[in-house]
Amino acid sequence: MTLPEPQVCRSCRSPIRWGTDANTRRLMPVEAEPSPTGNISVYVDSTGDLHLVVLNRSKSAAMRAAGHPLFLSHFVSCPHAARWRKDHH
Ligand SMILES: [Zn+2]
Repeated sequence: MTLPEPQVCRSCRSPIRWGTDANTRRLMPVEAEPSPTGNISVYVDSTGDLHLVVLNRSKSAAMRAAGHPLFLSHFVSCPHAARWRKDHH
């Protein structure tokens, strides 16, 4: 699976990737690289768009145990999240 090119967060300059949340259908940023504490499974569709599936705790643990990379929402880790969540939506 080839992930779309990472982009840079406008607030903190961290590398992130934008994907569509499978539940809410809204665009959401995740960290560019998988995290050992991640809870978001990603897949790329045939058009190259990134889709995000937010997992509950037990599902995350099962996916992680299976060696599946999981990502963290950049809403959680961005130091400026509270500010820019408002500005960008
Ligand atoms: Zn950021």
